[in-house]
Amino acid sequence: MCAALGARTLLRENNLPDFACQIAIAERNNRLGIKIRISGGGKCNITHAGEMMHVLAEGFLRQGEQRFLKPSFFELSNETVLSWLHSKGVQTLTRENGRIFPRSGKADDVLCVFEELLSEHSIEVLLNAHVQSVRKENGVFVADVDGAQIQSEHLLIATGGVSYSKTGTTGDGLRFAKMFGHTIVNPISALAPIYFTQKPPSDLIGVSLRNALLIAETPTRKLTRKGDVLITHLGISGPACLSISRDVAEALTADRVSLFVDCFPDESEQLLEQQFISFQTARAGQFVRTFFEERLPNAIVPTLFAQAEVPLEQKWKNLSKPMRRSLTAISKKYFLGDVKEVPIERGEVSAGGVALHEVNPKTMRSRQVENLYFAGEVLDVAGEVGGFNLQAAYSTGWLAGESVAKALLDEGESLNYSN
Ligand SMILES: Cc1cc2nc3c(=O)[nH]c(=O)nc-3n(C[C@H](O)[C@H](O)[C@H](O)COP(=O)(O)OP(=O)(O)OC[C@H]3O[C@@H](n4cnc5c(N)ncnc54)[C@H](O)[C@@H]3O)c2cc1C
Repeated sequence: MCAALGARTLLRENNLPDFACQIAIAERNNRLGIKIRISGGGKCNITHAGEMMHVLAEGFLRQGEQRFLKPSFFELSNETVLSWLHSKGVQTLTRENGRIFPRSGKADDVLCVFEELLSEHSIEVLLNAHVQSVRKENGVFVADVDGAQIQSEHLLIATGGVSYSKTGTTGDGLRFAKMFGHTIVNPISALAPIYFTQKPPSDLIGVSLRNALLIAETPTRKLTRKGDVLITHLGISGPACLSISRDVAEALTADRVSLFVDCFPDESEQLLEQQFISFQTARAGQFVRTFFEERLPNAIVPTLFAQAEVPLEQKWKNLSKPMRRSLTAISKKYFLGDVKEVPIERGEVSAGGVALHEVNPKTMRSRQVENLYFAGEVLDVAGEVGGFNLQAAYSTGWLAGESVAKALLDEGESLNYSN
């Protein structure tokens, strides 16, 4: 959508009449933008507030992805996207954590603005148009759409990722890109729940560990994320889980991965043990578990004591040194489970896709095939939760559209085409 808007805007700025250049979007669903409609639980986290450099740094943890996205993020910023919405009467709300939503809480309001803009910019939207294959014949792209053919001089592949396949994102774009000779980085899940080999005990399901440090360990690596962790019936979810899920999915392709939680991330192991030592006199007659029940969800405490091999009815006064040490160690590394799967279908995005080194970040143009472009999640980028992924789709799309328009204008110039 943004690509089409970017292209038409630049063409109009250069006085090219709309009839001189047809721009069409082929969408397999019966309406555009299904992911916008389901985003943010139907509320749509439109984008993230702040300077684009900060948005990039916060939203994309990998340097290579930040570098790749930078030119597009500066070409179309969060502010521009918001100005479109505001100009159409959609008010927005910025939460304390920087996430921006429509004030109405309705994702559909956002999508309606895009639909209105597309219509105003004379963009043809072909719905129920499932592109089955694309090829290039004599310099022209040919897309097969349910028995019909669409021809174009320039082609943008913006077919999204591979998760939530029921929404239409079944990875067709990756297949097309591969057919054009592009390298595809194997898609993996990101922003997804994590499933364990053994389901968590029923009394832990629904327990939320606030501001914990989630630790993912392989035999050779240790990855961490700070944030809330929610125990589910199959494993975990919650902000820290979603954020670490891509790294875990990647590690899991090569190694065993086990998950732990540091229940007291703001206290060092030494400090925690010092505290426990002081409690042995200051709270001598109290049950040890009271301290944990004051600071952690009650349901966790029995399993934490079981892992530490300390009786639940233990009092501070006769807590032995090995027990104290063990309790300290487990508090800092409570075992959650061994990872079975990071389900790709459940990822809010999928990482992997068209390899970034084969796409020019200043134009979104393929380095392999002339007049071929890529934008959005089909590329090997995946952002954090917070409106970053939609912003990446808008920005890369807009830049790709502008690049197509520039190429058309240059062609027009060389053919002495004007008005
Ligand atoms: C449940 C959920 C919640 C999310 N919430 C947020 C959020 O609040 N904020 C945020 O920033 N991000 C969110 N995301 C991620 C975000 O929606 C995506 O990263 C973003 O939509 C990607 O944009 P895209 O244009 O690249 O692809 P998509 O939005 O996936 O669009 C690709 C389109 O291509 C169509 N298509 C695919 N193949 C073909 C074909 N062969 N022929 C024709 N059409 C085809 C698809 O039907 C689809 O409509 C969420 C994702 C999910 C699944």
